[in-house]
Amino acid sequence: MGGQVSSVEGIAAAQQLKSHRLDFTLIDMRDAFHHNVAALRASVQPGFAQRTFIPYAETFGDSFVQGRVERVDTDRQTVVLEGGREIRFSHLILSTGTDGPFPGKFNTVATYQSAVQAYEDFIKQVQAADSVLVVGGGSTGVEMAAEIKTEYPDKKVVLIHSKIGLADPELLPSVRQQAKEVLLEKGVELLLGQKVSHLSELQLNVTQKNTVVNTDKGHSLTTDLIICCTGLKVNAAAYAASFSGCLADNGALKVNDHLQVEGFSNIFAVGDCANVKEPKMAYHAALHAAVAVSNIANSVSGKELTSYHTGNVTMLLAMGRDDGVGQFNGLKLPRCLVTLGKSRDLLLWKSWREMEQKQP
Ligand SMILES: Cc1cc2nc3c(=O)[nH]c(=O)nc-3n(C[C@H](O)[C@H](O)[C@H](O)COP(=O)(O)OP(=O)(O)OC[C@H]3O[C@@H](n4cnc5c(N)ncnc54)[C@H](O)[C@@H]3O)c2cc1C
Repeated sequence: MGGQVSSVEGIAAAQQLKSHRLDFTLIDMRDAFHHNVAALRASVQPGFAQRTFIPYAETFGDSFVQGRVERVDTDRQTVVLEGGREIRFSHLILSTGTDGPFPGKFNTVATYQSAVQAYEDFIKQVQAADSVLVVGGGSTGVEMAAEIKTEYPDKKVVLIHSKIGLADPELLPSVRQQAKEVLLEKGVELLLGQKVSHLSELQLNVTQKNTVVNTDKGHSLTTDLIICCTGLKVNAAAYAASFSGCLADNGALKVNDHLQVEGFSNIFAVGDCANVKEPKMAYHAALHAAVAVSNIANSVSGKELTSYHTGNVTMLLAMGRDDGVGQFNGLKLPRCLVTLGKSRDLLLWKSWREMEQKQP
């Protein structure tokens, strides 16, 4: 059964395949699962990062293979890894996710110990800065600005966003407004409706005192540290060549209601790399995984396949460890509930439980 390219629903799918007693292989180019949801806390709070990486091998043993998938040979039903190793599959779940800038994402292939160290080193840059500019006011940028201001209230934090509305456009307007209010309450300065000019020429993630930054609206400011929270891109490298006929414009795989990649009955796409019209979230990724695994089990036993239906948006934003905003199934939640349910621990318990390991 399936060669699988992982993460959030990689582990969810693997655990479910295990419970269905289906033989599986979990493939990831890295040696540990990254609990991405907590990456921003790991960027500000010393000692936290070690809780955000969970080694695969301890959970999955020989069912885990570390390697970069270079291509999928659909005729030979084989996944080809860098270096030439081939893994055969009867069913395949693709979940290669998205890449984006550090610290929101950690995309380097490194041991998880060095990944943890990268976050600890980054915290030193944050600590050395008196002022920080966060670029991008989507959900990641909003959470990043809130995390810094919560952990280091004396630092000047500016959030710049090209649009007027903050956070994910699919959130209720009242939730987006509340995110803005929390940032202002915490003392984050907002520069909305403008973009940093020549962002690619500026050094990111390294403290350089009094760096001058200009915006396309003629505004100029100085800052010590620039953190970029824009530009998430679907990771299509593993499959783009083999599935060129079923790629959406952003590189995601077009899927049907059963999450089968268009034209393939035994290949599924889940998580951020599946072209489903909904916010790209771990929450949805786990729901996709359940559907894909049920459908593998159903197809093996000759049962009818189940369909995936997008529900109303559920999204919780941790605004630092002491505040949060969000909605559940389309309904706005009180801030205290989001804080209790998400912001304090960032759902780390869930991933450690899923991986059947003890949190350090
Ligand atoms: C800062 C931040 C905070 C977030 N907070 C939340 C939140 O609070 N709640 C929520 O629901 N969602 C949140 N998200 C979104 C969530 O992290 C993603 O939706 C989720 O991680 C998607 O899971 P995935 O497995 O599809 O992709 P990813 O998590 O991107 O994982 C993809 C995996 O595939 C591996 N891979 C990629 N290409 C290859 C290859 N060629 N060969 C081998 N392995 C490969 C990678 O190493 C990686 O482990 C957040 C995202 C960010 C960036």
